[in-house]
Amino acid sequence: MNKSIRKAAVIGSGIMGSGIAAHLANVGISCLLLDMVPKDLTEEEVKKGYTLEHPAVRNRLATGAIAKLHKNTPSPLYDNTFSKRITPGNLSDHLERISEVDWVIEVVVENLQVKKELLSKVERYWKPGTIVSSNTSGISIQEMVADCSEPFQQSFLGTHFFNPPRYMKLLEIIPGTKTDPGIVQQMKSFCESTLGKGVVVAKDTPNFIANRIGTYGLLITLQEMLNSGFSVEEVDAVTGPAMGRPKSATFRTLDMVGLDTFVHVADNVYANITSETEKAAFAAPDALTSMVSRGWFGEKSGQGFYLKK
Ligand code: NAD
Repeated sequence: MNKSIRKAAVIGSGIMGSGIAAHLANVGISCLLLDMVPKDLTEEEVKKGYTLEHPAVRNRLATGAIAKLHKNTPSPLYDNTFSKRITPGNLSDHLERISEVDWVIEVVVENLQVKKELLSKVERYWKPGTIVSSNTSGISIQEMVADCSEPFQQSFLGTHFFNPPRYMKLLEIIPGTKTDPGIVQQMKSFCESTLGKGVVVAKDTPNFIANRIGTYGLLITLQEMLNSGFSVEEVDAVTGPAMGRPKSATFRTLDMVGLDTFVHVADNVYANITSETEKAAFAAPDALTSMVSRGWFGEKSGQGFYLKK
């Protein structure tokens, strides 16, 4: 296995998918960016009284996933041809085009069932020689493809980018039990040399390494805040720039990650560990889950711990 990667398909154009596609395009890789594009009016459009003829709706339908890309990507920071290397598409109509690429990256919502269903569809159009990876924050790599064929499993691994993908140097590579070691080596050297990442190869344990530690730290901070009556601003004041960590204030980080994603990530560890002490640490507090059930997902919905201005 020693084919170079010139074309990729990113499936999922949310916070991470759009950022990963932009990073790939910026190093010269052509990218298909696929997502579910609602063909009817969205709930938000109905609320605004729009019809299918409204220019904003027509624009969304015409441009599909690229709308999200522009929302999440500070394009002036990239060379001005980068977006031409990204072709947006609708998952339901264009999935077959993954047969044209060298690398498929799954970046949809953090849910095992959703990922399994998607990967079984990907396998229908997959051709041997194409690498397939998941950007999961911590779901078992092996479990995701347990129902797929042996050759597909051999070509599958985790490539876990961090948020924002352009700036975060860390990238975890997680082989499943069947992953071809040659592919692990190829991806490690590709991600280091072409994508400029610092790669850590991690075992397929719940939340791998970075999120096992990181999620724990964030949850303990949140629990301490609730128990001790600190404010969001106080905690951010002592966990951010004043501590010499310009971008890592606790609640700003959670709003950027997405509170829904963070709860999925915490729940994944919780469901896959047995120690009662660890379970207590990884239980998402009710205050957090109720924010998510209200639709407070952080920056992407406009409201999280902070209100987006
Ligand atoms: P997001 O909520 O911003 O985007 C998820 C995307 O998945 C959306 O565009 C949505 O349309 C699509 N989607 C939802 N259900 C789907 C389905 N049934 N079929 C196909 N597509 C579907 O989420 P995100 O933050 O971009 O996270 C994506 C993945 O990356 C997750 O596995 C997450 O754990 C991981 N991740 C997230 C972060 C982060 O900071 N947000 C960091 C590293 C890894």
